[in-house]
Amino acid sequence: MDVNIELNGQPVTLNGPLTLWDVLQKQRLTLHRPQEFAELAWINNPRCPLVNLLEVDGQVVPLAVRAELPVREGMKINTSSVQLDSVLKERLTHLRDRQQCAFIARLQEFTAAEAESNGMVDLEQRAQWDFLMRGSSPSVFHDPNACVRCKACVDTCNDTQQVGALSFDEEQGVLFDDAKCTRCGQCILSCPMGFRKMTDFVGGMMGCAPCPFSRPLGAMREVDDTGKVWNALKDPEKYVVVQFAPAVRATLGEEFGVELGELVTEKLYAALRRLGCRQVWDTNFSADLTIMEEGYELVDRLKNGGRLPQFTSCSPGWIRYCEIFYPDLIPHLSTAKSPQQMLGAVAKTFAAERLDVDPRKMFVLSIMPCTAKKMEAAREEMNSAYRYWLEKGTIQADEQFPDIDVVLTSREAAKLLKMAKIDLAGIAGEQPDPLLGQYTGAAPIFGRTGGVMEAALRTAYEVVAGKPLDTLEFEALGTMEGVKVATVPVNGIDVKVAVAHGLGNARKVCDSVRSGGEFASYHFIEFMGCEGGCIGGGGQIIPTTTLTRQARTRGVNRDDREHAIRKSHENPEVEQLYKDFLEKPLGHLSHHLLHTTYVDRSQQAASSTAATE
Ligand code: SF4
Ligand code: SF4
Repeated sequence: MDVNIELNGQPVTLNGPLTLWDVLQKQRLTLHRPQEFAELAWINNPRCPLVNLLEVDGQVVPLAVRAELPVREGMKINTSSVQLDSVLKERLTHLRDRQQCAFIARLQEFTAAEAESNGMVDLEQRAQWDFLMRGSSPSVFHDPNACVRCKACVDTCNDTQQVGALSFDEEQGVLFDDAKCTRCGQCILSCPMGFRKMTDFVGGMMGCAPCPFSRPLGAMREVDDTGKVWNALKDPEKYVVVQFAPAVRATLGEEFGVELGELVTEKLYAALRRLGCRQVWDTNFSADLTIMEEGYELVDRLKNGGRLPQFTSCSPGWIRYCEIFYPDLIPHLSTAKSPQQMLGAVAKTFAAERLDVDPRKMFVLSIMPCTAKKMEAAREEMNSAYRYWLEKGTIQADEQFPDIDVVLTSREAAKLLKMAKIDLAGIAGEQPDPLLGQYTGAAPIFGRTGGVMEAALRTAYEVVAGKPLDTLEFEALGTMEGVKVATVPVNGIDVKVAVAHGLGNARKVCDSVRSGGEFASYHFIEFMGCEGGCIGGGGQIIPTTTLTRQARTRGVNRDDREHAIRKSHENPEVEQLYKDFLEKPLGHLSHHLLHTTYVDRSQQAASSTAATE
């Protein structure tokens, strides 16, 4: 039976019956694509309902839902038209400007409708909002126009974290106090607009999962730095190297359909190499290095009467919290930089020299479970490699560069891999590059609450007692209790240690130390800004729940137990780094590159509070 239709303005007679899909196939037609949008190349979904559009009898329709539509006599079908061009350009401009898919955004409106039915927001009024964006640079970003005013973020910040950086105004919605914000990102994890509900369900049917834009963006979200990394990878002048944190390997697979808690360490080495990174290193290496410096610092304080208890210093949200609310306790903070910053410093000095790479051209990408790490990398003192080379006279004063160039959260890293069409789940595993890639079992447990403490004890005990600990695991320190304690006898002294995770719990311990209470008599206290430690970090894959925290914890614990070497001071590459470059823990060069200072920020926070009152 013949069917007469109009195809792109031309009369065509086809032998039916036919579907729309049949017509496209038989006529070898391609769908219209405006040329000027780079984002098009990143959409990794052949059935994408956002851009695969047809015009049928004057109506723009997504091919994915109309492919099987029977073609009728007289039907007018266009694969290219002024209307299609205009709709596509509008959608792609939205994608380019907001890095957000309009299709996914529409699905999010189900969450908004739910909020309206719960009396939180009036959607008619919401449609009129035109507020400016807010946030705490360079980490957290709030889109008031996408907000449904549920106040979950405000409760998280004020009650759970006990920071008080967010407030609620009936007219304006959620307000930020930038001076108080620790950049922990826990507000992002609580925002329902970032949850996958309808997007997983409908997007799943449409094949959206591999698309970099398939994650719904919350009204609270991280500052998106994926574009900076994409550009650096394309820049022949830049030598991109990468590190990723202990907790990232236990989480990132979730975005690619890998079983919850399954580690993707080797797959990630391979994926990052495929992405174009010239050296694939591991923050686990510098976690071992951190233990050397922080563990020796503890031993030094114990032996020589330094300020105790010593506080851990690898969680930047916690550090900023201490600087804002407990500046009098700053002398308790270990001066050891975090593993992220240590790796940046030795990458652009020791490794740059070994690899004969100009440190000014080295671009260190850091993949972290944490939004506060973006802020940590941007701290003005975090440029010790620049100061090292300046002192050597090989660079000029106006050639400043940071130790870490860009920090991506786990969520952004997933987006970046999807932009490059890399399927993390399917890729064959590889090994890290030499120099800064090897790690011991002590390193992965940095990713969960109690892990830094356990790792430090393994090394500090052996340094002081001259023999290994009887047990390498302290189960009481690894639980999800908010504050945990243990006592470790070392050479006749009972060393008292504590662990607090989540800033609300940190407050309890800090108040006790400040007032000369129970914790003032402790020797070493681990603080983490987020519940569960980094596995529950504000940059982690959403959802981050009790279930996912537990599964990720099991993952990093397994990584520890499966290592033949489980003590940081036995890491062969760390030993080599001291032998060839740093000389010794707490030595002159270590002090210069691996230690830092802190700032009393209480006045800034107090004056911003006064200004808003
Ligand atoms: S990032 Fe943390 S401190 Fe800042 S507003 Fe969010 S929850 Fe509060
Ligand atoms: S930003 Fe998110 S969590 Fe905060 S009030 Fe708006 S919708 Fe709720």
